[in-house]
Amino acid sequence: MPTPSCRMAEMTWPEYAERLRANPVVFLPTGMVEQHGPHLPLGVDFQLPLAIATLVAEEADGLVAPAVNYGYKSMPRTGGGPHFPGSIGLDGATLSAVLRDIIRELVRHGVQRICVLDGHVENRWFLTEGIDLAVRETGTESLRVVCMQHWDFLDDATLAEVFPAGYAGIDMEHAAILETSLMLHFHPGLVHTDRVADNAPMDAPDYDTWPARPEWIPQTGSLVSAAPASHAKGALVAECYRRNISAAVRREFGLGTD
Ligand code: ZN
Ligand code: MN
Repeated sequence: MPTPSCRMAEMTWPEYAERLRANPVVFLPTGMVEQHGPHLPLGVDFQLPLAIATLVAEEADGLVAPAVNYGYKSMPRTGGGPHFPGSIGLDGATLSAVLRDIIRELVRHGVQRICVLDGHVENRWFLTEGIDLAVRETGTESLRVVCMQHWDFLDDATLAEVFPAGYAGIDMEHAAILETSLMLHFHPGLVHTDRVADNAPMDAPDYDTWPARPEWIPQTGSLVSAAPASHAKGALVAECYRRNISAAVRREFGLGTD
């Protein structure tokens, strides 16, 4: 007998229909396919939200919809940029339309509680737009949607432990300490620990240019050194997320605190 999973993609339709009767929160992980340094795989930005959503869904008796693996274009100062091989960026309107369509379909199934959990900085406003269009289009008064990016749930105590030398902010954290530590925790087999990027921080001005300027970006693709990453830090962040994201989900969807 297979173990019951909270992942929609692993359920049969009768199992899914049965689970929906309890009006569960449905988590929709979103991400991107882009370079993550010489030591992490191209799928980090959807692999992490999928893992985090699964962790939180198990606590909240929620479901996890299949992740949206592709996202808005990699920008040089937050993702290294599209000049690295492997970046598969969608136009913003495409990503918004994908979100709108998925939410409309979930609502058609009877889902009323949706939590979009994102792992790619550049997605933010295109996800917002897709959700806003879906809410307007479905016109369902009982529909509740929450949209979040996982790093916003790092609390001060965790930040102090994970970044004793100071937190450079999520834009600079690309393929660095946070993502490497979380991958060591959730997917250790996908981290090349013998190739961890240990370069000087990105030195770029506070604006973007077209064409982009690859010379502003560290050649490894990590925007700061990932060397201080560790499995222990990943476990700490995962626990911080489990606690803080679960609390937010319970609060926003009116779930009990058992
Ligand atoms: Zn990333
Ligand atoms: Mn990214």
